[in-house]
Amino acid sequence: MNMPRVKALVLGLAIASIAAACATTTSPTGRRQVVGAVSQEQLNQAGAQAFAQLKAQKQQTSDARQRNTVSCVVSAITRQLPSSWQGGWESAVFVDSNPNAFALPGGKVGVYTGIFTVARNDDQLAAVIAHEIGHVVSRHHDERVTRQAGASGALQILGAILGSQYGQGAANAAVQGGSILAQTGFLLPGSRAQESEADVVGQRLMAEAGFDPRQAVNLWQNMISASSGSRPPQWLSTHPDPSARMGELSNRATALVPVYEKARAAGRRPDC
Ligand SMILES: [Zn+2]
Repeated sequence: MNMPRVKALVLGLAIASIAAACATTTSPTGRRQVVGAVSQEQLNQAGAQAFAQLKAQKQQTSDARQRNTVSCVVSAITRQLPSSWQGGWESAVFVDSNPNAFALPGGKVGVYTGIFTVARNDDQLAAVIAHEIGHVVSRHHDERVTRQAGASGALQILGAILGSQYGQGAANAAVQGGSILAQTGFLLPGSRAQESEADVVGQRLMAEAGFDPRQAVNLWQNMISASSGSRPPQWLSTHPDPSARMGELSNRATALVPVYEKARAAGRRPDC
């Protein structure tokens, strides 16, 4: 399907949904959440669109080992998701020295090659990826778009997601270097509540998948060490207050060890 038809389809859906009221739901950790300014289907399409544009603009690694490792970790983690979130997950590894990663609605996971400088084993990589997937399955993108929609209108937000307010040339320029992700708010730092929640959901997911939840703490230590140089890693700056979070991750890791051991005993021993 070509671009204008995708836009027309999605914008059509958006107009249909304008009348739909926002809904209040309960998040995975029991938080009150306002979601639903756009449908999950529309969010999935927007995520897929942003991912496709990023893949068209940004170089992907030629290192098959890195690609396979990321794909293996994503598979192991997403197999533990509720059935409604399973299936169709796709990953890509982009050549970029920044230790960063993201996950988008529609089942898209992007990892920058720089992540391998701080995630030094499968468990640490799983900690990063499970956190990002935690944002998706906790509907944080939905929550963020809904909040923005309250101020400026769902249609405008969706237009921004697809870059449709720009001419074709401008749209191409706007997606240079993945700024489409920035424009959409998909890569904005989450609220403190969202970050804590992604930590909780992600760390449990990694344990259930058979990755050692204690390694989430080591990952943060590596991130902090990496930040002692010139410029802090992007992942660190979008995920603030590392020392407090390390304490929380450490406490939860202890509680999650039995979950991890049960997963291992059940044969979930991912070797990525
Ligand atoms: Zn996060």
